[in-house]
Amino acid sequence: MKFTDFNLKESIQDAIKEAGFTEPSPVQKEAIPLVLAGHDIIAQAQTGTGKTAAFGLPIMSMMKADGSVEGLVIVPTRELAMQVSDELYRFGKLSNLKTATVYGGTAYAKQIERINQASIVVATPGRLQDLLMSKKIKLNPHFVVLDEADEMLDMGFLDEIKNIFTFLAKDRQTLMFSATMPKAIRKLAEEILLEPKTVSITKSESTNTSITQLYYVVEEKERDDALVRLIDFKNPNKCIIFCRMKKEVDRLVAHLTAQGFKVSGLHGDMEQKQREVTIKAFKQGGIDIFVATDVAARGLDVNDVTHVFNYHIPFDSESYVHRIGRTGRGGKTGEAITLVTPNELKTIKRIEKDVGTTMATEVIPTRQEVQNVKEDELIAKIAGTQITESAIRLVKTLQHDLDIVTIAHLLASMIQSENAILGKDKIGLTLDQIASAIERIRNDRSPSSSRNRNRGRSGNDSSRRRSSSGGGDKSRSGHSSRDRSSQGRASRNGGQGSRS
Ligand code: ADP
Ligand code: MG
Repeated sequence: MKFTDFNLKESIQDAIKEAGFTEPSPVQKEAIPLVLAGHDIIAQAQTGTGKTAAFGLPIMSMMKADGSVEGLVIVPTRELAMQVSDELYRFGKLSNLKTATVYGGTAYAKQIERINQASIVVATPGRLQDLLMSKKIKLNPHFVVLDEADEMLDMGFLDEIKNIFTFLAKDRQTLMFSATMPKAIRKLAEEILLEPKTVSITKSESTNTSITQLYYVVEEKERDDALVRLIDFKNPNKCIIFCRMKKEVDRLVAHLTAQGFKVSGLHGDMEQKQREVTIKAFKQGGIDIFVATDVAARGLDVNDVTHVFNYHIPFDSESYVHRIGRTGRGGKTGEAITLVTPNELKTIKRIEKDVGTTMATEVIPTRQEVQNVKEDELIAKIAGTQITESAIRLVKTLQHDLDIVTIAHLLASMIQSENAILGKDKIGLTLDQIASAIERIRNDRSPSSSRNRNRGRSGNDSSRRRSSSGGGDKSRSGHSSRDRSSQGRASRNGGQGSRS
């Protein structure tokens, strides 16, 4: 199926071509014809599957561009408001459809002025409610979109949303989009949608098959070492590391910075300006690693995030889905990597069941294994490097005292020491250990044992002890990653001093 198969108007089709989209995504295939036919819809699809275009293209195609506000898109966060309006701007500019973005923390006057010139308003619930209640604006949009509805409810915006809808005309077309469909969402849908059509992209399509999901089993105190080893091994272009708490974000940022990574934290109580600057740096490559909490990374749409790391496994399956959806966006592939302790394996099993996927488990590579990979990369890099005038001069000078082979050895040693893989050799559990840990939680989950879990059944207890002494202690005596030094480390990604 092609975009030309929909009945979208010419100027929208041209914008799609300009955006470089060739094939509609599954949610776009289903939603666009329904929206064009005038239906209310409730659509569920995983993040990164092109929901913005799924509503944006058909509603813009139906707009008259008569100077009035014809569309209202409500999104949970300011970042999303900006992202969505950027995307809608791209689609609408050839059709003379202007977009206004409305969110808290900036002056009213400018926003009101923009609203008065716009065809589409993209707004966060709080500020939109303020504007409507204080009668600063009057809106009569025919198209109303609730984007990322589940996140909006998670963030506690239910009352605001209900209130906003009291200000909106009844003869509207309402579209609701959500990555997940908890009960509260269905209930809200019943209230604001009229005879909606359901678009549900099945799990396998929806959980973005371009994301490879892996988990590694480690002991609690091995998390930092495991994380650093895996970053070294996977060599991500850009990655996001998820933590549960803000103070863990701060600690990890300090830790990874000391290891020479280009890293920044992203958390809820950062100032808005600072957030924007940081996100921009991440998009442009000045920062390679974001360490974030769930809330802070809501809806973050950065292309080229190759890896998502769950430093801690999230509590619920929905957060897991949201987190891993930060990678594998726009048709690219991505990897989601979760660190768990043997005890947390049951959370892995639960999430696998809820989400309808299986995650593969692997053993964390040893220092030598990572070193080998780095060596191959280094060889390729050396072969591909341009020889400079000053390098020729340098070698000539060195040749006064040293023969050419010694010079080569010295230079290679220098580069390698700058990129040495540190830390203990073995981290985490072996496949056999993981298999028996999984076996234990299986037994644990039999109905009788779960009921008796708090009564200290002797069978479980002894097996737990076995795992904690047999599994880790021997290998755990190695140096902690805190011993690592960042001295002489030009950059973690290749030693070419990309770090400034
Ligand atoms: P969602 O809202 O489902 O999380 P977005 O609408 O933010 O996803 O889209 C994710 C990325 O995919 C965006 O960068 C967008 O431009 C791109 N995209 C959307 N639809 C297509 C398509 N049909 N072909 C290629 N890229 C697309
Ligand atoms: Mg979206």
